[in-house]
Amino acid sequence: MGKIRKIGVLTSGGDAPGMNAAIRAVTRTAIYNGLEVTGIRHGYQGLIDSNFIPLQASSVSDIIQRGGTILKTARCEEFRTPEGRRKAYNNLRSAQIDGVVVIGGDGSFTGARLFGEEFDLPFVGIPGTIDNDIYGTDYTIGYDTALNTVVQCVDKIRDTASAHNRMFFVEVMGAEAGFIALYSGIATGAEAILIPETKGEDRDLSKMIMNGNTRKKSSNIIIVAEGDEGGGAFAIAEKVKNQFKDYDIRVSVLGHLQRGGSPSAIDRVNASRLGHAAVEALLDDQKSVMVGLMNGEIVLVSFRRAVKLDKDVDHNLIDLARILSV
Ligand code: ATP
Repeated sequence: MGKIRKIGVLTSGGDAPGMNAAIRAVTRTAIYNGLEVTGIRHGYQGLIDSNFIPLQASSVSDIIQRGGTILKTARCEEFRTPEGRRKAYNNLRSAQIDGVVVIGGDGSFTGARLFGEEFDLPFVGIPGTIDNDIYGTDYTIGYDTALNTVVQCVDKIRDTASAHNRMFFVEVMGAEAGFIALYSGIATGAEAILIPETKGEDRDLSKMIMNGNTRKKSSNIIIVAEGDEGGGAFAIAEKVKNQFKDYDIRVSVLGHLQRGGSPSAIDRVNASRLGHAAVEALLDDQKSVMVGLMNGEIVLVSFRRAVKLDKDVDHNLIDLARILSV
């Protein structure tokens, strides 16, 4: 691969607040370095359909504060096939694009890694997913905003729960990881937090409920990650209802509102740093790597490691949540 003159940028997988800030940073850093920039619309589908738009510095004005993604995102089955990726390569070559920045999650990086094994055209990734579940980075774009959204919602639920002495099961996003649940649970003083990372003894809800009973707590909030082994907030609430018939139990599933909204300051700043770092990485002849943030510093992590290795929650925080909810 020769000198990089023109780069593409796309968003792929689930949308996350802060993706626009990353698109802006990629575009402006590239232009600052004398490169041309092409926006690829609808994720990998846009590579296959040549759905390309030129991006100038002004194309990304007034987007840093907006949720969603101006380039749109999509799931694309065709990119999973070697033929689909061949089409993508041919389209990139025709458009004279020398490198691509992919903003997305694990699946997007897997596709990019396979592409990198098949073709000599570098892809660099930026972690963008509200779940914060990507190995090799402390942080993913959108997580901070989603977390703050959940905290605001749970605070509101706490008001009504206290007014009626109710127990609320609040289901939050996190199909495979409990970051949003754990952090929002600590931040809202939840009585219990159920996440995919905890099993058995750690999850003794009955004990917690009996304890709350003794203390005569006026409300109980139990945060449930959607991927928890108990089978979601409704299923868990049902079991508890059968056991504690006197309790006034309600369920609230926060759902897609966790994905939307204006990105937090942290998400905007980190997306700006990562967008800048991704272009720098391409200029440094990097390929098949994700740019991440570890202990506040920019790091490069191979797609292989980012995808293959699991990121665990800090189990000290699980203990902390339990201690603080006595
Ligand atoms: P999120 O964490 O928000 O779900 P993601 O990037 O993991 O984001 P996916 O839907 O898993 O989201 O993947 C996005 C796209 O990446 C897929 O639609 C597909 O085009 C591509 N992709 C995913 N897995 C593979 C794979 N195994 N091989 C090739 N391409 C893949």
